[in-house]
Amino acid sequence: MAREYCAQCHYLKMQCICDLIPKLIQPLKIVIFQHPKEAKHAKNTIKLVQQVWPDVSIIELPEDDRENTTYFDGINENWHLLYPGESSSVLEELSEPHKQNIEGLVLIDATWRKAFKLLNLYPRLSALPKLCFGQIPHSLYKIRKAPSLEALSSLEALAYASQLISSQDTKPLLEFMVEAQARLWQQRPSKH
Ligand SMILES: [Zn+2]
Repeated sequence: MAREYCAQCHYLKMQCICDLIPKLIQPLKIVIFQHPKEAKHAKNTIKLVQQVWPDVSIIELPEDDRENTTYFDGINENWHLLYPGESSSVLEELSEPHKQNIEGLVLIDATWRKAFKLLNLYPRLSALPKLCFGQIPHSLYKIRKAPSLEALSSLEALAYASQLISSQDTKPLLEFMVEAQARLWQQRPSKH
C-alpha cells in the first residue's frame, strides 16, 4: 500500500503534526545557513521550524563556493548574525532603538568548528554585526533534556533571540518542537 502524506505538513498521514502547529508571527526575517553536512543531520528540526515560520530561509552553504555572493542576496547591514564572539554585542543589553533597527537574523546551523570555518571563508558573513546572549534562561535547559533533541540548540537560540528582540513569547515554538518530535518518533513507519 502506498504511503499517504498530509498535504499541509508533508509528513505521513499517521504522523501528521498539523494540530500541534502554534500560530506565531515572526516579524524578523530569518536566514539559516547550514553546512551541507549538518543539512542531512538536522533536517527534521529545521523542517519543524518552517511549519511554524514558513518564511524562514534555509540555505546550504558549502565550503568551496567562496566567490558566489548570491547566498547573501537580501541580507544587508541591518541584519545581525547570532554568533558568540569577542566582537559580539550582548542581546539583553541592546537599546530599544537598536533592536527596532534589526531587520533580520542570520544563524549558522553547524558545529562550532564548522560555523567558525564558514565565517572565515565568507567575508559577507563575518562582516555582519554579531549578537550573543548574556545568559540562557532556565526554561530552555529543561526542554533540552527531552529525548532526541540534539539539534535543538540553534533553534533555542533563534527562539530566545526573537523573544528578546521582538518581545514575543516563543515558548509555544519550543513546546511544539518537543511534542512534534515525540509524535514523529512514536508514529514512525516500521521498516518493511
Ligand atoms: Zn499534517
